Amino acid sequence: MSQKSVQSARDIIAKALESSTNPCFTCSFQAEDVAILDLLRRQRPDVTVLFLETGYHFAALIAYRDRLASEWNLNLVNMEALQPVAVQEDEFGKLYEIDPNRCCSLRKVEPLMRSIANYDLWITGLRREQSPTRANLQPFDTHRFPDGRTLAKVSPLYDWTTAEVFAYLVANEIPVVSLYSEGYTSIGCEPCTAKPAAGEHARSGRWGGSKLECGLHTVSVKES
Ligand code: SF4
Repeated sequence: MSQKSVQSARDIIAKALESSTNPCFTCSFQAEDVAILDLLRRQRPDVTVLFLETGYHFAALIAYRDRLASEWNLNLVNMEALQPVAVQEDEFGKLYEIDPNRCCSLRKVEPLMRSIANYDLWITGLRREQSPTRANLQPFDTHRFPDGRTLAKVSPLYDWTTAEVFAYLVANEIPVVSLYSEGYTSIGCEPCTAKPAAGEHARSGRWGGSKLECGLHTVSVKES
């Protein structure tokens, strides 16, 4: 783990926080998000940590979220869809099978758009290495949302490799969710997460390979 990478991430976070009075961090509790969370809490312990509680997560992920939230005294906010899972399934069936884009829109994009309107800075765990759709990621972006609003979006680990993420966590004695040891490399909702095929990129096991993004990071348009 290069100290240069860690210092770079610290500097990006510090610079972003300088001009923010109400930042939020969207956290999936995957490894890179937990690395950022650790760096971030050292600078802004009360930062709002937004978690998309879709109702479809692995039980192990929810248990891990709750453990970290308790041990690190996180200011955790669970973002929820307008309809509980049971109501959605009664009305539309298993959308994750028949129309995953609509399911992600209802259970991820809409709750995020509703929540993020309250903040002046959006910190994310996006990394270039995660998938081809993120290859040109920059550490500082301004994004415009469908309602016309703009928001500063910051990705402190934009150039970190997966190996660097795990090295940081090991060096700081931070455990990861147990699903990694089972072979998962990118962890989302349980019905849409599989282990990647050999030689494929980390997110290739999501949505059976039919798509790479849930819409959270494509609903807004990069302005600069
Ligand atoms: S990842 Fe799957 S289960 Fe989760 S919101 Fe999207 S389609 Fe639904």
